[in-house]
Amino acid sequence: MKNQDLVNYLRECGVCLFCQLRYLKARGNEYQNRRQYLEKVNVEYKDETESSSDPAHKKKRQNVCPTCLDLFSKSFKDQLLQAILDTDIAKYECDGIVVAISIPIVLQLRQLSMWYALIDKFEKNFHQDRAPDVSLKEAIKLILNPTICENLKKKYDIDNGLRININLCHELENEEIARLEKLNNVAYPPKTGHKLEPISRSLIEKKYTPLRVSSELFKKTFSVPPSIPNESLKLDSISLVGPTAYVAGRYRKVSRKLSHTPWVLNGKRVMDDSIEEIIIRYIATYFCEDRTKINFMSSGREDVDVRCLGTGRPFVLEISNAFRTSLPPEQARQMEECIDASQKVSVRNLQVVSRDDLSHIKMGEEQKRKCYRALCQLDGFATADILEKLNLPKGFEIQQKTPIRVLHRRPLHTRPRAVYSLKASVYAQNKRLLILDVVTQAGTYIKELVHGEFGRTTPSVSSLIGQPVDIVALDVMEIDLDWPPAVTF
Ligand SMILES: [Zn+2]
Repeated sequence: MKNQDLVNYLRECGVCLFCQLRYLKARGNEYQNRRQYLEKVNVEYKDETESSSDPAHKKKRQNVCPTCLDLFSKSFKDQLLQAILDTDIAKYECDGIVVAISIPIVLQLRQLSMWYALIDKFEKNFHQDRAPDVSLKEAIKLILNPTICENLKKKYDIDNGLRININLCHELENEEIARLEKLNNVAYPPKTGHKLEPISRSLIEKKYTPLRVSSELFKKTFSVPPSIPNESLKLDSISLVGPTAYVAGRYRKVSRKLSHTPWVLNGKRVMDDSIEEIIIRYIATYFCEDRTKINFMSSGREDVDVRCLGTGRPFVLEISNAFRTSLPPEQARQMEECIDASQKVSVRNLQVVSRDDLSHIKMGEEQKRKCYRALCQLDGFATADILEKLNLPKGFEIQQKTPIRVLHRRPLHTRPRAVYSLKASVYAQNKRLLILDVVTQAGTYIKELVHGEFGRTTPSVSSLIGQPVDIVALDVMEIDLDWPPAVTF
């Protein structure tokens, strides 16, 4: 078979130039340099889309391509581009795009039909189980995607691009699916007691090749080669999904009446705000429309009545369908100022990070060290003896049963936990009050470490000095995670 013979046959069937190239297995930019490629493979160049003085040609170029249904035609590309521009694409500030085109089943059936036709015509040159063409999916990548990128002046970016979902339809879709259903019933009769497998793209891919379904059977239902239809493909719908933006920072919690995430009990809010909501409130609008889809993650959390001071706690917002994935320092500072004005939470080092950076937040939670400062009350005055007993720079190990207060959400276990150091000092204004500086392994319950919870934590500050100790207030002073990097304005 000469390439020219193949192309002559395809042209007889009304196949467009792009599809001819698909059957000649053109790659990469050979679809852009069509004339050159045809010359290379010894085929006479003829482009029906170009104007011709020959009336016979004029007539021919108007037919709808039976194999791609004009998917690659100039008019369809123009229509597609216009439809994309008519969406609210302008509100997305992204350099990259990803195109996801969903093609109707009728288009798949037409590839199949041409496959049977080519085997009939050039028996020895085509395989029964290997498709004769560059697949539509591949051809879309090579032909349509570069055109869309070029026109929108965007690069193709599979990781962070704005996703353009395009659904195509064709007037013959339902009719041809109904026919395929009938054929499928004969080609793959359902076993008794089994339901018919619904028609899908993957069913056709898996079960329909000339090797698996005889040409005879296929031809009873579908015309081979595929007939020239009256109508081209139509655009069914276009939707846009923005990339995911990751915004990181460190928060300080300066209120003792603030939950980490919305606190709802029996359908009622216990506290009317939370760290998560305050942070999202001032960051969301810049990045997205639907703030309910934002995911707030932090490196651990503190209790409602515990402050988090020092350099604060690292957090990340995962913002899906974002308009933009960058955050200018000026904008970041404005957001930080708004959050600070809540007087409950303060945020620093706001910045956009990459998805890979999320590992910092998720990794090694148990290995981290946490520094706390606890204000504790004794029954009597603090003595030198007490201070000495609580001066343990080398630390000690404790056995800690799951506190009763968290048993409703954590299983009951006894866990060994490291207290890396302990130091006590007397509160100047009140000698009954102790200031305890504690460094512990992450996951240690500090309140229980102080009062011992009826022996459920041993040893405890209380057992070390042999008298009851009450915890009055607790602050997280430092979190052992140097991330995200500091931002300087
Ligand atoms: Zn075509």
